[in-house]
Amino acid sequence: MIPTYPLDIDSLIQQLPVEQVFPSWLDGSSVELFLLRLDLTDVDVSGNKWFKLAKNLSEAKTQEYQQLLTFGGAFSNHIYSFSKACAQAGLSSVAVIRGDELTPESNPMLAEVARSGTQLLFVDRKDYRRKYDEDRLAFYRDQVGEFFLIPEGGSNNEGVLGAESIGELVVNQTISFDHVLVACGTGATMAGIVRGMSGGADQPQVHGLSMFGQTSVEPERGWLTKEVARFIADPKRTNYQLHYDARQPGYGQLNAELIEFANQFLKETGILLDPVYTLKLMAFAKERVAQGFFDHSGKVSRILCIHTGGLHGWLGYVDQVLGADMPAQLSGTIKQRLFS
Ligand SMILES: *Cc1c(COP(=O)(O)O)cnc(C)c1O
Repeated sequence: MIPTYPLDIDSLIQQLPVEQVFPSWLDGSSVELFLLRLDLTDVDVSGNKWFKLAKNLSEAKTQEYQQLLTFGGAFSNHIYSFSKACAQAGLSSVAVIRGDELTPESNPMLAEVARSGTQLLFVDRKDYRRKYDEDRLAFYRDQVGEFFLIPEGGSNNEGVLGAESIGELVVNQTISFDHVLVACGTGATMAGIVRGMSGGADQPQVHGLSMFGQTSVEPERGWLTKEVARFIADPKRTNYQLHYDARQPGYGQLNAELIEFANQFLKETGILLDPVYTLKLMAFAKERVAQGFFDHSGKVSRILCIHTGGLHGWLGYVDQVLGADMPAQLSGTIKQRLFS
């Protein structure tokens, strides 16, 4: 699918199903677990990035831009989806990448982005931090010509607007959910989900899990809280909360326990999770279920986890996927999906 806007919710409900799953860690609990399969949007323009890019691309087209520019790290899902979406839409694309020591050959994700026709500009960390400063933007314009700017993560107003459609998808299901769980980077996707719900009293509680928040450092918590509130831009919306206890190790890192968990989830549900976001979201869900966090005095509790896609994130773990330590079913599925 090529992201276009407005998104057609009725047809998306057909194409991006909600599936109930039965991992063994639910046994004995009163929780029913469902997954909204945004990972089925498109192999390349994946999950929540598809929604955030849809509105940005159509806005760029409306304003008659032929070229788009955005920012990201060496393994950014956003950069990868941006590159593929622009190629599909016939638009030129430029990606400013953090790290002037990098090249298009530094990793398989950058290589694929370059192969899709995206021009890569590698900048040092100091200039990357100042990326939105007027003199830096003028510098990029000198280098590549005029462009429509999409901020890091695709997280601007257009991005949040696109993500509102995910909230609509959630409340338009025939099942009504008590809790919705979503992984947060910038928080724009979560904000869109909250905004896309009707705002009535019977709304599910939306839980956002910060991927950067394993630390208890207060400024970091404050940053995401503020960002989400700014994106929601409606103080009357209060049916959401943020969590900062994502599984160790830190952002973008895996350990043997998480890999085994991903393998077990795949075995028991047939669903592959991405290594950076949804795997840790699911580990968080498991932990909270075990703690009885979702129990409502014996009543069944319906939880919807948003599978935000990002499966190509496994391209950042090629050594593990091709190595001997990863369980065969997991590595086989990843290879089949990404390396064939
Ligand atoms: C980028 C990404 C997120 C985080 O989205 P934000 O809008 O930045 O919070 C979550 N899940 C996946 C798979 C992603 O690629």
